[in-house]
Amino acid sequence: MNIKIVGVVGAGQMGNGISHVFAQYGYKVVMYDINQEQLKKAVSIIEKNLRRQAKKGIIKEGEIKNIIERIKLTTNLEDLKEVDYVVEASPENESLKLELFRKLDEITKRDVILASNTSSISITKLAVATKRPNKVVGMHFMNPVPVMSLVEMIKGFTTSEDTYNTAIELAKSLNKEPVLSQDYPGFIVNRILIPMINEAIFALGEEIATAEDIDKAMKLGTNQPMGPLTLADFIGLDTVLAIQNVLYENFKDSKYRPAPLLVKMVEAGLLGRKSGKGFYDYSS
Ligand code: NAD
Repeated sequence: MNIKIVGVVGAGQMGNGISHVFAQYGYKVVMYDINQEQLKKAVSIIEKNLRRQAKKGIIKEGEIKNIIERIKLTTNLEDLKEVDYVVEASPENESLKLELFRKLDEITKRDVILASNTSSISITKLAVATKRPNKVVGMHFMNPVPVMSLVEMIKGFTTSEDTYNTAIELAKSLNKEPVLSQDYPGFIVNRILIPMINEAIFALGEEIATAEDIDKAMKLGTNQPMGPLTLADFIGLDTVLAIQNVLYENFKDSKYRPAPLLVKMVEAGLLGRKSGKGFYDYSS
């Protein structure tokens, strides 16, 4: 594994966390976003989270500056021509990701592995949009990336053993625990998690209970660290809806239909923490 510089596409919640861990473990990072403001915001979030890690003794205070300096920011996709590996973390939108994979295939060196952090979109579809379908793999980090140890590793139909093994080795070098999944909608975690969240939103929409009581019931009744509605706010309701739609459209089974309340909230721009309001209010 000769990977020294990693390109991260998208500097949102996941992109900043992914850049953080790669830089923390010594890799150089080129973080790309279409939005300059988002890049600046990402660096300030990374710095805040590094300080938190330093307070907890996970890293040394003196390392923070070096870690930040390893991250180069860009709004020019061409700057990814120098990287040895790519993790794509753009919005959960199939046509957008397909377009990005086509461009990444043209820009990056021929032997570079292109990984996607998608929560649900077919890795095989992304792979065949490129001229290197054997070098495309799913690397699904969990949110927040610096805290959560799991990475789901998704093997597309065309992913080679070499590519898969390199990606797994890379995940381990970040002190992450990989689990292996075949390329079916939602993989492991979101196949199970997102329908549960969707059902909680149905329950809220049908006024079975308040948001607080639905979350309290699931926390105390099933020993989850946070309730499903709190978790939905944390993931982003647009992302939850996008994943639920991928399950619905791909399995063609009505049991995956998105809750009408979820659809309405996304239409209204109530996306959870990232927009300041979802099932709960984060504006203050
Ligand atoms: P986000 O909305 O926080 O961030 C997306 C970023 O992509 C934004 O900064 C946006 O400016 C940028 N962007 C938009 N168009 C772009 C383009 N063409 N090229 C590059 N960047 C572009 O979303 P997120 O929560 O970080 O999710 C990103 C990916 O990670 C999605 O595929 C999502 O399914 C997956 N994911 C999300 C979570 C979660 O809990 N939110 C967990 C695991 C995986």
